[in-house]
Amino acid sequence: MNLILLGAPGAGKGTQAEVICDALKIPTISTGNMLRAAVKDGTEYGLKAKAAMDAGDLVSDDIVIGILKDRIAQDDCKNGFILDGFPRTVPQAEALDAMGVQIDKVVEIYVADETIQKRLSGRRVCEGCGNSYHIDFKPTKVEGICDACGAKTVIRKDDEPATVIDRLKTYHEKTAPLKDYYSKQGKLVTVEGQEEVSETSKLTLKAIEG
Ligand code: ADP
Ligand code: ZN
Repeated sequence: MNLILLGAPGAGKGTQAEVICDALKIPTISTGNMLRAAVKDGTEYGLKAKAAMDAGDLVSDDIVIGILKDRIAQDDCKNGFILDGFPRTVPQAEALDAMGVQIDKVVEIYVADETIQKRLSGRRVCEGCGNSYHIDFKPTKVEGICDACGAKTVIRKDDEPATVIDRLKTYHEKTAPLKDYYSKQGKLVTVEGQEEVSETSKLTLKAIEG
């Protein structure tokens, strides 16, 4: 099954991707994580992406389409994959279609902007492996230390409140039109993000089964 997770920054796409990954045993592909890794490694496209990411803007379509294409060509994707954070623009969605990638379902995780602003201020990310946590909703076992790899968890630069406002604006302008795009293809299902993560997860699994 090839799935897309759609939703505003901080709507909980990454967490839902983990749930689906466990249930269906297909990998999650997060362009955000891949870009952050590239920035950290100082690769050529990492350097190009950094300024846009820090400002809450999107990285250019040709860069992300390039990384995505290489990633889904890998062996572990042959039984399906979950795209978390891609596509984020109509041209990216068109590029997927042009590659001949069959998408089965697009799951939109809907959370209101005000809730998102509150949530992102509590988000922490691991410096080592990139895992995401939340001080209230998904705390690490030891404060400030990643459960998975033991490295430090920090506030993402683009989770600063001023940048969050820009990211939400970018989402509404550039990414939200994808709802229409996939709804026209009959693939869009919307899950309303719940206060309890486990409740959202139930709804997500139901949405991809149904
Ligand atoms: P979010 O929590 O905002 O969903 P991500 O981790 O998915 O964040 O992405 C972080 C940043 O990486 C984005 O704000 C954007 O700059 C860049 N990025 C990630 N995926 C894409 C994409 N498909 N197209 C353009 N930029 C992207
Ligand atoms: Zn870690």
